[in-house]
Amino acid sequence: MKTDILIIGSGCAGLYAALHLPSDKQVTVITKADLESSDSFLAQGGICMLRDESDYDDYFHDTMKAGHYENNRVSVDIMIRESQRVIADLISYGVDFEREEDGSLAFTREGAHSEKRILFHEDITGKEITSKLLARVRERSNVTLMEYTTMVDLIEEKNTCYGAVVHLKDGELATIEARFTILACGGIGGLYRHSTNFRHLTGDALAISLRHGIKLENVNYVQIHPTTFYTENAEERSFLISESVRGEGALLYDKNMERFVDELQPRDVVTKAILAQMEKDGTDHVWEDLRPIPKEELHSHFPNIVAYCRQHGYDPETECIPVVPAQHYFMGGVKVNLDSATSMKQLYAIGETACNGVHGKNRLASNSLLESLVFAGRATTDLILHYASAQENPKLVANVRLEKYRDWDSFSEENNELVRKAISQAEWIMEEEALLNAEGSME
Ligand SMILES: Cc1cc2nc3c(=O)[nH]c(=O)nc-3n(C[C@H](O)[C@H](O)[C@H](O)COP(=O)(O)OP(=O)(O)OC[C@H]3O[C@@H](n4cnc5c(N)ncnc54)[C@H](O)[C@@H]3O)c2cc1C
Repeated sequence: MKTDILIIGSGCAGLYAALHLPSDKQVTVITKADLESSDSFLAQGGICMLRDESDYDDYFHDTMKAGHYENNRVSVDIMIRESQRVIADLISYGVDFEREEDGSLAFTREGAHSEKRILFHEDITGKEITSKLLARVRERSNVTLMEYTTMVDLIEEKNTCYGAVVHLKDGELATIEARFTILACGGIGGLYRHSTNFRHLTGDALAISLRHGIKLENVNYVQIHPTTFYTENAEERSFLISESVRGEGALLYDKNMERFVDELQPRDVVTKAILAQMEKDGTDHVWEDLRPIPKEELHSHFPNIVAYCRQHGYDPETECIPVVPAQHYFMGGVKVNLDSATSMKQLYAIGETACNGVHGKNRLASNSLLESLVFAGRATTDLILHYASAQENPKLVANVRLEKYRDWDSFSEENNELVRKAISQAEWIMEEEALLNAEGSME
């Protein structure tokens, strides 16, 4: 198979990129599962937007503070500055954000935001955005969508990418030759026992990058979400109780039904407090009380959370629900520049798979959909600028030995192990450095 641009992943980042490529280019989007099984469909809380200039400093500061000031300041500035344009784009694609009575956009707030600056659609904002992006992509005759098609490897020579080896829906292996390849493979939650992510998101782009010497960044920066619905079934994808509920007044209680933390602190701080409390109390969860949220607000803003809790035996209108932290988001990833270019030529990375430093050590709630779209757009602009000078290498593609990928199960287990190891090594190095710095400061 041959295409001009190969996009690996059909979440919001991959789809937005496909929509921003010119119609005279053949674009192929592949996805490991069906088109609706991406984390982008799961986003509940919303997407940030700079409301007006008066909020710029606070928005910038909230993002930096949540990221422990390890964020790339230029990336943060770009994300905030481009937010209004991206939202206007989404509205033009038919995305329906909540409105005030006068027709203006309605904003909500989440943990660690000092202002209301989050746009939402009930508690299914990600589904609203991504399904509209998908609908617009389906209208493009230059875009081919391939479900159940998995990237197994990149085709590369002398640090230049010429496409990918893929595992097709019918079980066959094939090559897809492309002038440019965009990694948009999402997060790493599938590597964890408890995660809010889809199970098939296992950091494949990271593993393949490790195999080819493509630079990665901050691979140990993994965000744990403080509040997911507690279930005894460890195989279930953890259901997220959005931070917006705490933004709207929900409280956290220990086993004695007493508060133990300021619920509006950044999520890593709240997570640590919950885990410490569970250990102290010897419990598997803490309690979240949604009753302080006015009933009307609870039902109009969080209908899916209410329905899920009721299906699982708890009525949040009248009682507390059990919640526990779970892996949620990956701040690290394939290292990219401000135009989403990786360290390999003709290869970009966007969305949760990429690390441009926007989130620093910890992501501020509702910044990731925005970051994914802003930097997907930048990747396409850069790609088009360089399109004419990109090289092709049909001989290399034709000579790929597909037999070496036949034992797909062992190959993907090896991939998972590579990523796990990279994360724990980075963790170990950071602990060593912290120790060295602490010893240095004692001298
Ligand atoms: C429960 C939940 C709630 C969230 N709420 C919010 C929120 O309110 N606001 C916010 O800003 N963010 C939120 N997030 C985070 C946000 O949804 C994600 O960061 C964002 O959607 C990532 O988009 P993406 O396009 O990078 O990846 P995804 O949407 O995860 O898409 C990844 C794609 O890559 C494909 N893929 C993976 N590996 C391969 C492979 N080897 N070959 C082919 N295809 C592959 C997958 O099949 C999928 O199509 C939430 C996340 C979760 C899990």
